[in-house]
Amino acid sequence: MFNIVLFGPPGAGKGTQSSNIIAKYGLTHLSTGDLLRAEIQAGTELGLKAKELMDAGILVPDEVVIGMIANKLEANQHATGFIFDGFPRTIPQAEALDALLEKYNTSIACMISLQVEQNELIKRLIARGMTSGRPDDQNEDLIKKRVEEYLNKTAPVADYYNKQGKLYNINGIGAIEKIFEDICKVLDSLQ
Ligand code: AMP
Repeated sequence: MFNIVLFGPPGAGKGTQSSNIIAKYGLTHLSTGDLLRAEIQAGTELGLKAKELMDAGILVPDEVVIGMIANKLEANQHATGFIFDGFPRTIPQAEALDALLEKYNTSIACMISLQVEQNELIKRLIARGMTSGRPDDQNEDLIKKRVEEYLNKTAPVADYYNKQGKLYNINGIGAIEKIFEDICKVLDSLQ
């Protein structure tokens, strides 16, 4: 299996680049944000609880997202590999992911971290909010809260992978195709 973590603050372009990577490398997409929105859509108890936090721009508890990922890994044991998008977002999530992958005799090959500065992120998210229909993209204070959560709780996860020699920083500003090319160079060198 070839497993990668696509990392970066909200608005860094993870969704866009995930689609490109999946199309080229045939990986299975696991986005905890998408999984949580599907729970909300289905009106489950988990979805109802998560919605309150998501609407406030706060991370949902680690055990909720770890449980969702564990289920998806179990259901897709024969995948070519996974692209983790928006997960792990805390150090305990990263540790849990390593332990889960070990169960299937596999591991993370690399973390691709998209680098985009804060003002650009806020501009992109406000623009996305006009078409995405996502309530958490509609309000500038909420967007700032999500970026703050990222800086406080999620940014340290890059260091976790750096210590394992698996972190690759990619400039996330500029043409989508050029950013994808830079990602491919890293992925091709590791496959
Ligand atoms: P995203 O679609 O990745 O931007 O996620 C939207 C929201 O879902 C976040 O602001 C969090 O409230 C929640 N969320 C998604 N993934 C995670 C995660 N790995 N850990 C905790 N909360 C998450």
